[in-house]
Amino acid sequence: MATLRPGSIHDPALECLSEEAWRAHLGAQLSATVARAWKAAPRARRTLEQAGLVPADVVGLEALARIPITRKDSLPAMQAEEPPFGGLATLEPGALARLFMSPGPIYDPQGHDGDFWRFRHAMAAAGYVRGDVVLNSGSYHLTPLGFMLDAGARALGCAVIPGGTGQTELQLRAASHLKATAYTGTPSFLFQLLTRARETGTLLSLEVAFVIAEMLPESLRADIEAFGVRCRQGYGTADLGCLAYECAALGGWHLHPDTLVEVLDLETGQPAAPGQPGELVATIFDEAYPLLRFATGDIGALAPAGRCACGRVAPKLAGLVGRVGDAVKVKGMFVRGGQVEAVLKRFPETGRFRAVVTRDQHLDQLTYEIEVDRPGEAALADTLGAALREELKVRGEVRLLARGALPEGSKKMDDRRVWK
Ligand SMILES: [Zn+2]
Repeated sequence: MATLRPGSIHDPALECLSEEAWRAHLGAQLSATVARAWKAAPRARRTLEQAGLVPADVVGLEALARIPITRKDSLPAMQAEEPPFGGLATLEPGALARLFMSPGPIYDPQGHDGDFWRFRHAMAAAGYVRGDVVLNSGSYHLTPLGFMLDAGARALGCAVIPGGTGQTELQLRAASHLKATAYTGTPSFLFQLLTRARETGTLLSLEVAFVIAEMLPESLRADIEAFGVRCRQGYGTADLGCLAYECAALGGWHLHPDTLVEVLDLETGQPAAPGQPGELVATIFDEAYPLLRFATGDIGALAPAGRCACGRVAPKLAGLVGRVGDAVKVKGMFVRGGQVEAVLKRFPETGRFRAVVTRDQHLDQLTYEIEVDRPGEAALADTLGAALREELKVRGEVRLLARGALPEGSKKMDDRRVWK
């Protein structure tokens, strides 16, 4: 097999500092961010005040543990109470660059920094270089992923084809005609494109991929790289942007050098030792959206300590192992049992349900098994499918069952995927 294109270090002055200098950098950023939030984000200020903190108390990383945690799960309620951003943004809506709505619903602001969500470091590590033509199949529709990846690629001097989701044939044609050299989006869609190109004899020029928003099992990475496309992944959230990314050495994802990511034990709330699972809690240093100790609901573990062969200083996440609560990620979107329930409540003819997630040919499959009065009604299945898709932004198949058909005590979200 031909050699794959290598990755690079975008900002050695930040990514390859000494550990001491890096921690000093994070400490200084934390202090500045707390001061900004205090001044312009009313809820952030109240939260600090309730903890007995003023900005002068937060000098360096030592004060971090005294800052209260803000939970992602609480955002919808906070935003309803103090619209639109829950008192956590520093700018009025009209002074921002973009405003997004993710399922939840959760509103997310974008400030004016060129690479607001800091994806450029991750994409350079994946192998992106100036002059790449990038097919971006992250969604540009209401949710921020498409714009996040777009901004990172453009900050590196790449040109972007804003593919968005779906329309596989059109995206394939665009990537072929425009000679896309790089891809970003979910790994399953990339695999679909590569497979389709082979089936149809379509010439693709892809050399490198940065994938996100979905699990990347090693079997899928190998299948993608067998097409000659180097594939690296990152981790981020709609609220926080990029939090971690893979380097050439693999074996985990470096924490983003310009964010403060903690892995906190689920019971004690104290930093979890390497190898021990904990909730990922991040502080970002954005001007417009200075989130302090924001708990993602994602559970991960740090890799064993020690400097990586690539030269980067930031520790690595060994991987993600699940979610706090009932949310399951399907086709790159979070699906919560509670959201499914809320939709089905609008239809009195429905009863208990189970959302089953499986995986076939590297693609997630979502099936809603729903108990109804008359399971033979095909029109009802279509109506429910459309209502669920509109709310959850993910397509799923609806199977209508007779009342009482689901086993007692079955889970609302039944994730049966096996990752190899
Ligand atoms: Zn590394």
